Amino acid sequence: MGRKVIIDTEECIGCESCVELCPEIFEFDEGLEKAVVISADSYDPACVEEAIETCPVECIHWEE
Ligand code: SF4
Repeated sequence: MGRKVIIDTEECIGCESCVELCPEIFEFDEGLEKAVVISADSYDPACVEEAIETCPVECIHWEE
């Protein structure tokens, strides 16, 4: 089981950059108007890293 990805929902501005980059990892929640992490056993680390670097408010993190 790989590391988990988390989004700090309080900080997310719903820009959808992460959803466009990694649609298999992140999805847009229409109700929240924010991105959420799709539940999975593992996540593509390269795509997660790219999303972390691209997020304008730096609210995507690996769970410690
Ligand atoms: Fe939210 Fe960051 Fe994803 Fe934009 S890139 S939707 S701010 S988590």
